[in-house]
Amino acid sequence: MEKEEKKKGQKCWQVEAKKKKGDLCVIYDRCKGCGFCIEFCPVDALEPSSNTTDKGYYPPTMKGGCILCGKCEKMCPEFAIYVKEEKE
Ligand code: SF4
Ligand code: SF4
Repeated sequence: MEKEEKKKGQKCWQVEAKKKKGDLCVIYDRCKGCGFCIEFCPVDALEPSSNTTDKGYYPPTMKGGCILCGKCEKMCPEFAIYVKEEKE
């Protein structure tokens, strides 16, 4: 399971995929809970969190199995989720 890290106003998960390593982060302040990231993830790695953000939206949380493909980042209309890949 991806290790969870809390940063100011964000939650990140340390991901080690087959060929990539890095963080997947959600910026709570920006998330509107639309669920596009969850819907379009090709490996079904996300699910809605059971807790709301300060603004009352349900942000995505990590279920597991993220491959750091970046699709959620591309789909998010609010720029609220992003991949930070670690270069080896
Ligand atoms: S980076 Fe890709 S695999 Fe990981 S949560 Fe986003 S869409 Fe899913
Ligand atoms: S696509 Fe963006 S705004 Fe919509 S639930 Fe995911 S992180 Fe939040």
